[in-house]
Parts: sequence; structure tokens; C-alpha cells
Amino acid sequence: MEIPIARPFIGEEEKRAVLKVLESGRLFQGKVVKEFEEAFARFCKVQHAILVSSGTSALIAALYACGLKEGDEVITTPFTFIATANAIMYFKAKPVFVDIGEDFNIDPSKIEEKITKRTRAILPVDLYGLQYDYDAIKRIADKHKLFLIEDACQAVGAEYQGRKAGTLGDLAAFSLQESKNIMSGEGGIITTNNPEYAGKIRDFINIGQRTKYDYVGYGLNFRITEMQAAIALEQLKRIEVLTKKRIENAHYFLKELAGLPNVILPSEKGTKHVFHQFTLRITNGKRDLILQKLGEKGIAARVYYPQPLHLTTLYKGYSAEGSLPVAEQLAKEVISIPVHPQLTREEREYIVKSLRELLA
Ligand SMILES: *Cc1c(COP(=O)(O)O)cnc(C)c1O
Repeated sequence: MEIPIARPFIGEEEKRAVLKVLESGRLFQGKVVKEFEEAFARFCKVQHAILVSSGTSALIAALYACGLKEGDEVITTPFTFIATANAIMYFKAKPVFVDIGEDFNIDPSKIEEKITKRTRAILPVDLYGLQYDYDAIKRIADKHKLFLIEDACQAVGAEYQGRKAGTLGDLAAFSLQESKNIMSGEGGIITTNNPEYAGKIRDFINIGQRTKYDYVGYGLNFRITEMQAAIALEQLKRIEVLTKKRIENAHYFLKELAGLPNVILPSEKGTKHVFHQFTLRITNGKRDLILQKLGEKGIAARVYYPQPLHLTTLYKGYSAEGSLPVAEQLAKEVISIPVHPQLTREEREYIVKSLRELLA
């Protein structure tokens, strides 16, 4: 058996939708992009959704809307994909890493001690599909007048007290990269309820151009093609089914793996966790061995992320080794197992059986 960590769902509808765009002869931004944006805004219950070329460009565009400048500081988590911090670096601003909690997300109780006169924003990540602790962090952002930007790249469809990912802050960024819960190969989305931010972003992602050759500000080309928008739109139509399947797989693992020694299973914290990853902790120091053994059995388990960002070459010096102990410890313990919607019943059972053997 060979079980990949992610397997994008590409149905007949996606194929037909791409073909239809190709046959229309218009591949450049137009009606499908707009159709997706409207549908996604309705889905999240948010005023504005803007489709761009990637999750990374969505993060950069969201930070651009905040007017981020050289020397500014943005508080974020070290336990994330590097794009979160690199988006901050694009502005020559500084990511300030705050340790995480047992839920893998930024720990609100450790944020205030890192706020300085230069802090402009807090950028929490909804890691693995579980939203950050909005209530606690919103209070801090309001008290210190900071922007709050949600990296929701892994959390499309997640809900925190009935509020969808993408609505928990001033702006949010999503990714439609192939491994994400819904995808278009590459792609990203910015959501906001603020019309001024939306306007700034629309100019910025279109090379600063509002109408043809009317350059109202600095900008880049972060546009996406109609083919990708067509795939994204079909994926959005499937999102309830795909998410339900992920959650079902996760609940199966939670039930079948409960009580195994040296294992800590993920918590949903009473929210709608959409399980971009199903990540467990191996607490006996044998994580790497188990990773290797699962690989030998054809199960592509993965470690997200083997190094917290402050221990990578790029971010060495942004926070001393030992200063973010929870992130450093969890990086040694985490292992993500395949939980994607296309997992079959046999594959699911095989994963459980293999883990039980290895952990017994
Ligand atoms: C995937 C991801 C990104 C970047 O998205 P791309 O579309 O690959 O640019 C950013 N942050 C997080 C947390 C992600 O998982």
C-alpha cells in the first residue's frame, strides 16, 4: 500500500470547467475570478474576497493593506510554514516570534511581553486547521491598537464560535496550493470586511493600476488565471463534502488511537477543526523512528514542522535557541498522518493497525 499525505481531488467538473475557460479564449482575469470571489465571500460571510496567485502573495497583500513599513514588528508564531514570516520580511519588517501552546497555535498569554513601540500587527496562524484563540488575542490587539491578520491558509471552512476562518481579524489569507483543503494547483485568497483595505489590495495586486494605465500606487502582479479560478470554484462547491470526510477520518483516528501509550492526540477545543493535518505527538523520543517505519509500510507520514522558524538558518538570531521551549519541544514530537478526504476505509484501518503495532 502507498498512502500519500495529500491527494488533491480532481473531478470531472474541474476538468470541464478548465476546458470551458480554454474554449472561451479568455484566460486572463475576468468573469470566473469574480464569480469565485463572490461565492467565497458568501461562504465565509465576509464582505470582500480577493483571489490572488498564492497564499504567500495573499499574506503580502494583507500586510500591504496595513501599511507595514521597514522596521515595523509583527508578532507571529515560530511553528508555521516559513511563508508566514517571509511575508513580513518582504516589507523589511521584523517577525517577532512568540511561543505556542499545547494546541500548536500562538500562546496569547505570551504575546504582551513581546509588544514594543514598533509592533504594528499580530499574525496568528490557524495551524493544521484549528483556529487561533481569537477572543484572547483580539483583546490584546484592541488594547494596543494593532492590526490582526489571520493566516488561515490551512483552515478554510473552520469555525470558531460559529465564525468562519477568514473573519477573525482585520484581514485573512488563504492558500489554494495543491495540498490544501480546497485547491487550484496554486492560488490564494484575501478576505476582509473593510472596503478601504479591499480597495488598496485590488490596486496592489494589479501592479498598482486601478483602471488601465492609471497607476494609483505601488503594486505587483499577484493575479491568477481564469483556469485556476475555475478549478477553485468547483472545489468550493465540494467543500462541505471534502471537509466532512476529513473530519470523519480524524474522528476515526481519535477513537481508534485513544489510549495508546506515549501518544498525545490533537484536540478540537470545542471548535470546528477542519484537519488540514491530523497531527499527533509521540512523547517517548521515538518520533523519527516511527516516521521511518511508517514510510517503510508505505504510509507517507510527515513532520510539520521539523524546525521552529527561529532555529532555521534564515531566522537564526530572531529568537535564541531555548527561548521558545514549547515550539522547540513539539517540533521533536509531532507527526502528521494522512487524513485527506480520499483516504479509503482500508487505508484508514491500515494506518491505525500500523501505528498500534509501532507504538505498542
Ligand atoms: C500553505 C501555507 C502558506 C503559503 O501558501 P502558498 O500558497 O504555498 O504560498 C502560508 N502559511 C501557511 C500556514 C500555509 O500552510
